[in-house]
Amino acid sequence: MTDSVKYLLPEDKLPKAWYNLAADLPAPLPPPLHPGTLQPVTADDLAPIFPRAVIEQEMTQERWVEIPEPVCEVYRLWRPAPLIRARRLEKALDTPARIYFKYEGVSPAGSHKPNSAVPQAFYNKQEGVKRLATETGAGQWGSSLAFAGSLFGLEVEIYMVRISYNQKPYRRALMETYGARCIASPSPLTNAGRAILEKSPESNGSLGIAISEAVEVAATRDDTKYALGSVLNHVCLHQTVIGEEAILQMEMAGDRPDVVIACTGGGSNFAGLAFPYIRENLKNGGKTRVVGVEPASCPSLTRGRYAYDFGDTGHLTPLTKMHTLGSTFMPPGSHAGGLRYHGMSAMVSHVKELGLMEARAYWQTECFAAAVQFARAEGIVPAPESSHAIKGAIDEALRCKAEGKAETILFNLSGHGHFDMQAYTDFFAGNLRDVAFEEEELKAALEALPKVG
Ligand SMILES: *Cc1c(COP(=O)(O)O)cnc(C)c1O
Repeated sequence: MTDSVKYLLPEDKLPKAWYNLAADLPAPLPPPLHPGTLQPVTADDLAPIFPRAVIEQEMTQERWVEIPEPVCEVYRLWRPAPLIRARRLEKALDTPARIYFKYEGVSPAGSHKPNSAVPQAFYNKQEGVKRLATETGAGQWGSSLAFAGSLFGLEVEIYMVRISYNQKPYRRALMETYGARCIASPSPLTNAGRAILEKSPESNGSLGIAISEAVEVAATRDDTKYALGSVLNHVCLHQTVIGEEAILQMEMAGDRPDVVIACTGGGSNFAGLAFPYIRENLKNGGKTRVVGVEPASCPSLTRGRYAYDFGDTGHLTPLTKMHTLGSTFMPPGSHAGGLRYHGMSAMVSHVKELGLMEARAYWQTECFAAAVQFARAEGIVPAPESSHAIKGAIDEALRCKAEGKAETILFNLSGHGHFDMQAYTDFFAGNLRDVAFEEEELKAALEALPKVG
């Protein structure tokens, strides 16, 4: 066979539980701290903004967490996500490596994010919540939560980072199609938004600011809770359906990966694919290399400091030990809006500190070049975020070629780019630039980190 091949899974083999890496880590995760008392955050501290079931999942040490049947039912609308052997790409690269990708773009919202949006909406609904407030960067999380909210009858209010709000009107239209309300952030509707607008009326916004706005709304309204699309432990947990399916699909393909690769924004699609493989490495003698790929313009894993920091710009969230560029760091605008976050998931950061993963950073133009090469070989137009994983996979495949090694590469294609075609137009017109941040700004943001222990 010379053409690309797709592997699905019979329905009775679909994962029935999410996997919690916390149960198998050789050292415990440093706890999140209350910013006032510097004591570990309690379930009561989180109760105003999250439903009980989600808080439990955020803190649990259980290895397996059962997926509720109503969530499985919704998952089955698009899961299993296909695993595809990218033979045409292998041929284009003339590499002896075997390249597989897990394609999460088949979900209704076009990315991996509904894997967590659906259970989060389900648990909120179950606990009588009426409204959800959230933020969105590129619009992927917003559309995912809007979709999930529409299934479970919840109102959804979305603070969208202004630069994406302007660049991606169709993402907004998608959220509105699902019945959600979409607001450009920073907005005049919240204290956090107004504070930023006073200082910089032209602010492009950032995920950190949009999070502050959504958290403020949830904290100040009884009928409203908050939902986060990445970073937190429960989000990483929900995303592990990706890796659990992939392990079974790779078995069907009669192969096993030497390296797994995913892009990292807040870390959730990476966690989703990688954590089950890290378990295999830790417990079952697996030897898979695990690689996270981030944008060079916002490189928390490769250039950030491992320190306690706020998750948002307005300093409303708990302090989390993570790789961070500093919560006051303003990443330059880029088309991979979903990767434009100053911090990294605590769990992924911890995994990095423990030496269980590697990280590297690429510029956006080299990622777009990789995305175009991929699209012309495999037909799928990737999201700009996912193009980082593709660039990582292509580099590994070219290394295999140089070394004459027939290794197996698996990467996560976290979403399609159908709403990002303006970015492709800019790339073809030569208008995409690689914008580096100012070293002085990074230094200042790191100096402004909260002083903890
Ligand atoms: C949001 C998003 C990302 C980045 O978020 P993670 O939590 O790091 O996965 C990556 N790819 C796509 C398609 C996204 O929508």
